Amino acid sequence: MFQSTDQYHFIEGVLEDTLGQRPDVREFHFLYCGNFNLAAKVATAQGIFFVKWNEGDQDRMFESEAKSLNRLRETGILTIPQVHGYGKRSGGNYLMMDFIESGPAQPGYWVDFGEKLARLHRVTNDRHGLEFNNYIGALPQNNDWNPSGISFFVENRLKVQAGQALLEGKITGKLHDQFLRLCEKLPGLLPDEQPALLHGDLWSGNVMTGADGLVALVDPATYFGLREAEIAFTTMFGGIDPAFYQTYYEAFPVAPGFQERIPLYNLYPLFVHVNLFGGGYLTAVERILRRY
Ligand code: ADP
Repeated sequence: MFQSTDQYHFIEGVLEDTLGQRPDVREFHFLYCGNFNLAAKVATAQGIFFVKWNEGDQDRMFESEAKSLNRLRETGILTIPQVHGYGKRSGGNYLMMDFIESGPAQPGYWVDFGEKLARLHRVTNDRHGLEFNNYIGALPQNNDWNPSGISFFVENRLKVQAGQALLEGKITGKLHDQFLRLCEKLPGLLPDEQPALLHGDLWSGNVMTGADGLVALVDPATYFGLREAEIAFTTMFGGIDPAFYQTYYEAFPVAPGFQERIPLYNLYPLFVHVNLFGGGYLTAVERILRRY
């Protein structure tokens, strides 16, 4: 861990690299950030920025996050912070973007979000996947193209995480076998829909309120995939406002029986949590495997 003056100089260097001139810093705050990174808010004459950084060796992580943010931002549908730069300099890897100044939420906040997410999910592609790989948390996501959404979900998402959990002794061989048997059944249990552009890590911690009082999204793990997986993901930690779901389902209805499929999609974030944080989430995985 740096001393904070070193961290300050590190951020100054980041700003200089990114803006191409010595920054005129007016305000600087270290912020609490996520599980792996540090972050700061830096107000300068050139703008107010959010810089996050880490000392890890996965220097592609921020590059893929920047590309994921750009991919979502270029649709013009939702507020996504503009990326100003990413890279590596002595002291760590960094990603610099606009700081989201949170304002009070507008009354129509959740309705607006439901409508906009439905629009995002209507952005489609000829295959599932993405033109680059990225990460969910600190775990890599392989986005190799696949014409089938279910095959992509099983091979590139579920099996990768379950395989890692087995390799690291976080799940037993017996549970893994049970999981593989469920994978064989999934083509009969999930609808193979057209690819939808997804945020990919849509839990409430990544849903912010922008200065306009409407949703701003951060920290994506973007890909073209099954949109039901994204809606299921939002229910993981208690769900979000009913007005969001009502508007989304009206704007872009899901196939009948979706509520029954939610646990199947959420095997992915659950395995991710088992791999990142350990055993506590295993009980939920076991329950789902028993049920289906
Ligand atoms: P990590 O990748 O380390 O998990 P996040 O990108 O999720 O970090 O950011 C952690 C928190 O920082 C978010 O939950 C949010 O509260 C805040 N945050 C993220 N991006 C911005 C931003 N551009 N402006 C202001 N706050 C932000």
